[in-house]
Amino acid sequence: MKRLTMKWKIMLWYTTLNVLLLGVVLPFMYYTLSHNMYADARTLLQSDINRTIESLEFEGNAIKLDEDVDLVGTGTYVIIYSNNNQMLSGKLPRDFNLYAQPRFDSIYMSSGNHHQWLVYDYKLTLKGEKLGWLRAVKTLDSINKTLTNLRIIILVVIPIYIAIALFGGAIIARRSLSPIVKITKTAKQIGYHDLTKRIRYNGVKDEVGMLAETFDEMLDRLEDSLSREKRFTSDVSHELRTPTTVIMVSAEDALNGNKSIAEYQETITTIRKESRKMSSMISQLLMIARSNEGQYKHEMELINISLLTKTIIDELSESIEQTDITISADIEDGIIMFVEQTLYMRLLINLVNNAVKYNTTPEGWVKVSLSKEKDFIKLSVEDNGMGISKKDLPEIWNRFFKVDPSRLDSSPGLGLSIVKWIVELHGGRIQVKSEIGKGSLFEAYFPLNQKAINNGFKIS
Ligand code: ADP
Repeated sequence: MKRLTMKWKIMLWYTTLNVLLLGVVLPFMYYTLSHNMYADARTLLQSDINRTIESLEFEGNAIKLDEDVDLVGTGTYVIIYSNNNQMLSGKLPRDFNLYAQPRFDSIYMSSGNHHQWLVYDYKLTLKGEKLGWLRAVKTLDSINKTLTNLRIIILVVIPIYIAIALFGGAIIARRSLSPIVKITKTAKQIGYHDLTKRIRYNGVKDEVGMLAETFDEMLDRLEDSLSREKRFTSDVSHELRTPTTVIMVSAEDALNGNKSIAEYQETITTIRKESRKMSSMISQLLMIARSNEGQYKHEMELINISLLTKTIIDELSESIEQTDITISADIEDGIIMFVEQTLYMRLLINLVNNAVKYNTTPEGWVKVSLSKEKDFIKLSVEDNGMGISKKDLPEIWNRFFKVDPSRLDSSPGLGLSIVKWIVELHGGRIQVKSEIGKGSLFEAYFPLNQKAINNGFKIS
């Protein structure tokens, strides 16, 4: 049984169950029917005898059957014997032994060569004097014929039923398992390089239909993550190639010719700038890799983020190269939040750096504000820079998305995807409002109540 396919197993189970059911139902039906038919025949015989006895005619000491009462049509024969077993009147079925010994006061069954009868023998007395006896014989031929036919039908029906059950079982099994066969075929066609195949099941949404649908959905997710992985790998290689090339070309140039000290310094500065860019990108990629694992180990602590935000803004204001941009902060004091310090710093640095980087306005400014509202903590970074078009807004959270990819000098387009991940890791959400030429406003909301915080991340 273990080696059989599912189709055969279903067929066999289905057939066995049906045959077992028939094997119980049909014999029970046969038994009940035959029992009832014989019981009816006994009742009829009893009533025939009563009618006959009531209609007996006496002439002196001689007894006669009333000729008007003819029971042969109902299958009952009546005959009267004298005390010394001489036949007086009436008739018996042709094969019945005329001289069979009487067995008084009970209905019994008697068999001939090809026939069966119900027999009743009754003593006839008049005023205490024995006049003879009466025998009533009811033929069971029609009952036996019906039962024989029924037996034949049962014996014919069972094999036909088994055949139909097997055939029907096979059709049912094939129909219900066909999507599974399709799933297997599709699964065999799927390779690492081609995840485009789908089952596209159009049938009923039963268990198998749902399996097919789930399988298609799983393939959608696999295809999506595989294509994202491919795109990510090619984006990473592309982004790393530019600074690597610049470093290699600068180094070879420096080694090749006679250069002045100023020229060497310029080359080394370029190499340092590109190395820093690569180093920053590698650390961002590491962060993304950790976020991808989905099991980022949080080291959340209760931190006074008002103080932390102020410190970061102060340091950023000093380190920012574009001195013509003013950074101001409006920080509400004493806000305590469960955060992972390094991630919170990264989030703020990325937002402020972008606000400065994409701001070429002569009187450029960046405003950072932190406040505690009724149910949440709000961190916002606003600038009056170049802004982002409506078309690009939904894309900016995607990895490696750059509004202007032609700018070779630009960063790789990872900053905002990391920002979004950090905000969500802290149970919050982030939104942006922006207009080309006017500026952008990034607003992050973090849950304030403990329950929401616990839902957002685990406190270790
Ligand atoms: P990158 O690390 O290259 O800056 P980000 O993921 O941080 O990439 O940002 C994606 C894109 O969104 C950038 O290419 C930039 O054009 C746009 N962007 C982000 N922040 C701002 C901003 N404050 N003002 C204008 N454009 C922005």
